Formats: sequence, structure tokens, C-alpha cells
Amino acid sequence: MSGSEPGPVVVTGGSRGIGAATVRLLARLGHKVAFSYASDTEAADRLCDEIASAGGQAVAVQGDAADPAAVAALFETCIARFGRPSGLFANAGITGPHGRLADLDPDVLARVLAVNVTGTFLAAQAAVRCMSTARGGAGGAIVLMSSRAAVIGGGGEWLHYAASKGAIDTLTVGLAREAGPEGIRVNAVAPGLIDTDIHAAAGLADRLAKKAAEVPLGRTGRPDEVAETVRWLLSPAASYVTGAVVPVSGGR
Ligand code: NAP
Repeated sequence: MSGSEPGPVVVTGGSRGIGAATVRLLARLGHKVAFSYASDTEAADRLCDEIASAGGQAVAVQGDAADPAAVAALFETCIARFGRPSGLFANAGITGPHGRLADLDPDVLARVLAVNVTGTFLAAQAAVRCMSTARGGAGGAIVLMSSRAAVIGGGGEWLHYAASKGAIDTLTVGLAREAGPEGIRVNAVAPGLIDTDIHAAAGLADRLAKKAAEVPLGRTGRPDEVAETVRWLLSPAASYVTGAVVPVSGGR
């Protein structure tokens, strides 16, 4: 993003976890934020209220990240309420239940790929259409959500999830090359073990406690530590950074 006024930002999966921490931080910095969520309306409304009480502006839009119509509605809401977005954080993602490849349910595989890969493609596509200088836009910055699982591989836990994040790394590099000449920077964050609900939702409530010792910095990470990196990548401070997948993992 450029200019003195912080531009509007779209965040997918912004009601809880890393997405919510990023929405909160961006709003505190003066960005108007339109974010999507899947089903937890109470959490989404609570976050909007919290931001409004602090003098910021955010709007929550319920919709499946993998549904093209819902993605279009999210961007239309941002444009109608706050103007054309100059930033996107494509964060929405799921793991599905943990397990080994031999036991993987094809429906779980299809759903994880739909949300994590198709959903990220759809959000990135909508953002490029808004931001591209070749299409009358003013440029902008996109941050995609990868994971350290993309390089660790997820074996024994969730290969399907890790592979979906590998696709995001490829999208990051390729889209950075494609959209750079149109004024758009594209980067990704690759978090390690971050303290959110996602682990328990996969049936691994004790995962963080069990794995913390593997982290060179000796602890798991917080959502706000990922949000700080996303904020930096979206900001003019990262004006010469594109095509990068930035680990936020304590060294793991
Ligand atoms: P989380 O706490 O489970 O929060 C997920 C957020 O995404 C919620 O706001 C949820 O909405 C939303 N969401 C889920 N599925 C969606 C869908 N189909 N459409 C729209 N929104 C959807 O997860 P998190 O740990 O913050 O993870 C966020 C991203 O970071 C994911 O892409 C994940 O793969 C990635 N990541 C996480 C970690 C980690 O250790 N936590 C590490 C590496 C990468 P509801 O509130 O309505 O459910």
C-alpha cells in the first residue's frame, strides 16, 4: 500500500485466531477492514464491536472462502463501505481431522483443498482485479497464508493440509512475478506452532504443548506475532519485498 492514508484491507477468516489478531492490528493502525468468517457470528460481531469501541472500522461478512459468490460479496462489501481495497490477507484455512494418508477420507481431502487452495486463489484473483494498474487500479499488496507444514510435510499428522500450503508457496512466487508489473506485491507468511483453536479442532488439543520443545526459541507463537509480520508485508515498509514466503515459526 502507498500514500499517507492507510488503505482498506480485505481479510479472509478474520473472526478468530491469526485472522482476528491481524484485523485488530490493522484497524488499530487506521485501516478499514472487511473480513469474512465461516460460521462464528458471535466472534465476528464481538471483534467488530471491539474495533468500533476503539474508534476503528471493520465489517464482517459471513461466507465460505471456497465459494466464488461469497468471495465476490466480501470484496463488494469492502468497496461499498470503505472503497477499493489496497491490501488483502488471504488467511482462511482448515486442517480437517488429523490422520495418516492411508486413512484419509476423500471428502476431507477435497474440502481442505477447496478452502485452502481454491479459496486463496479466489481471494487473490479478486484482489488483483481491484488493484491491478492494468485494470484501472492503484496497485496494492497481497499476503497469503502458508504454513511451515509446506516444507516439514505434515507426515503422520496431515499431509493433505501441508500439500495445500505447498500450493500457496507456488502461488506466492508465481503471482508475484505476474502481478509485480501491475503494481502489486505478493508475499506469504508461514507460521509454525501458533496458539489458536485450529489444533483442538483437528482433534489434537495437546499438540502445542507436546511440540513446543521442538522450537528453537523454546515456545509456541502467538497470533499477534504473525499479525505483525502480515502488517509489515502489507505496508510501504516492505516496498521492495515480493515473492517471499516469510517463516514466523521461532526457527522450527
Ligand atoms: P482458527 O483459529 O481456526 O481460525 C480460523 C478462521 O478462519 C476463523 O475466523 C474461521 O471462521 C475462518 N474460516 C475457517 N474456514 C473458513 C471458510 N471456509 N471460509 C471463511 N472463513 C473460514 O485458525 P488459525 O490457527 O488462526 O489459522 C488461520 C490460518 O493460519 C489458516 O490458513 C491456517 O492454516 C494457518 N496456519 C495456522 C497455524 C497455527 O499453528 N495456528 C500455523 C500455520 C498456518 P469461524 O470463526 O466462523 O469458524
